[in-house]
Amino acid sequence: MLIDTHSHIYLEEFDKDRLEVVENAKNSGVGTIVLPNIDSESIPKMKQVVKSDSGYFKMALGLHPTSVKQNFKSELQSVFADFDPTDFVAIGEVGIDLYWDKTYFSEQQYVFDFQIELSKKHGLPLIIHSRNSFDEIIDVLKPHVASGIKGVFHCFPGNLAQAKQVIDYGFYIGIGGVLTYKNSNMPEVVQGVPLERILLETDSPYLSPIPKRGKRNEPAYLKYIADKIAEFTQTDFEKVASITTKNAKTLFGL
Ligand SMILES: [Zn+2]
Repeated sequence: MLIDTHSHIYLEEFDKDRLEVVENAKNSGVGTIVLPNIDSESIPKMKQVVKSDSGYFKMALGLHPTSVKQNFKSELQSVFADFDPTDFVAIGEVGIDLYWDKTYFSEQQYVFDFQIELSKKHGLPLIIHSRNSFDEIIDVLKPHVASGIKGVFHCFPGNLAQAKQVIDYGFYIGIGGVLTYKNSNMPEVVQGVPLERILLETDSPYLSPIPKRGKRNEPAYLKYIADKIAEFTQTDFEKVASITTKNAKTLFGL
């Protein structure tokens, strides 16, 4: 069994064939899918999907850095308005994104820090989005590390030295389709860190792995990522599946 620790299957990209996509995922050995939230607008869509198959999906609640704008305080309030921590397995996705827009960098820092506090308060792990912002993320995280925060750097964007730092901080490395791309430095990362610190994810509908690159990504394609990890670490698919599944269960309390 595999666990897709990051999918946005509630987005409109799946409105036409979501049931089929879920069937494909199940038939491909995906036993659980974790859904990270984006902002206040995505919450009803996410909950709707979970309602359809509540044993199969797990939710994370958070405000994504690319949705942090001038109204960030009221947006934070809306996202966490009826927050019942027992409904969620993580706070996410949260973090800093300096790739799309740097305008709200200080607001992104504030919102990230606010959500780290929530993760501490409720004992929920963090799902961290870090695009063009590794050092900035570390700066915000650092003061909290001693209090035992945990989580995953989703779609890990760094090099091996940064991966080791993340592990030192008690976090997991989220590995997705990028591992299968030419010129990716993810092979070096997966070879240099213990399998015990790796989580599998698709980030569907984005970042399809080869041989599906360029198409819409879906949880069923998680097997291509597990295959590549097995290849790069010279082990077998079953071992990658069982260890990464155990990691996901440990982190998210599944
Ligand atoms: Zn995401």
